[in-house]
Amino acid sequence: MTIKKIISIVGGGAVGVSLLYQIIKKNTGSYCIPNLEINIFEKKSKLGRGLAYAEDSDVNLLNRPADTMSAIYGNPQDFMQWLTNNKQWRDSYPNLMIDKNSDLFLPRSLFGMYLESLFNDAMVIAKK
Ligand SMILES: Cc1cc2nc3c(=O)[nH]c(=O)nc-3n(C[C@H](O)[C@H](O)[C@H](O)COP(=O)(O)OP(=O)(O)OC[C@H]3O[C@@H](n4cnc5c(N)ncnc54)[C@H](O)[C@@H]3O)c2cc1C
Repeated sequence: MTIKKIISIVGGGAVGVSLLYQIIKKNTGSYCIPNLEINIFEKKSKLGRGLAYAEDSDVNLLNRPADTMSAIYGNPQDFMQWLTNNKQWRDSYPNLMIDKNSDLFLPRSLFGMYLESLFNDAMVIAKK
């Protein structure tokens, strides 16, 4: 008999989605846990943003430089890499210039977009 393992995450904000993504990403190949069910409970319709990274004014900035903000353990550059590799944010922030040679204090809502994208990526990986 194979026992079902259930992980339940309460709150689909920044930490909940970071955890969800990292469990799903690791749960492949030889690390795959059979019969794993993950439940995530979130009262808002959108997952990822939570309170701090909601879709609000662009003048609300992160309190740390962008290259120190990441949802991935062991990769502090993940947010910066997402900014470089994804162009979807440019429509919402047309005037934003990314200069990697100086400390970047970016809009909190942009970090929220990154977290939403991480959730969508987690869903794609999970379906595979
Ligand atoms: C205004 C503000 C600005 C911040 N700026 C920064 C920053 O610039 N840099 C930084 O590193 N940190 C910042 N922080 C800290 C930030 O809150 C944390 O980094 C991180 O977002 C906390 O994540 P969390 O998942 O614990 O909470 P949240 O991201 O808030 O997620 C909690 C989630 O739980 C959901 N929830 C609550 N109760 C229930 C329930 N009963 N059932 C189902 N779902 C529920 C909520 O809807 C929410 O989506 C800031 C915090 C605030 C408040």
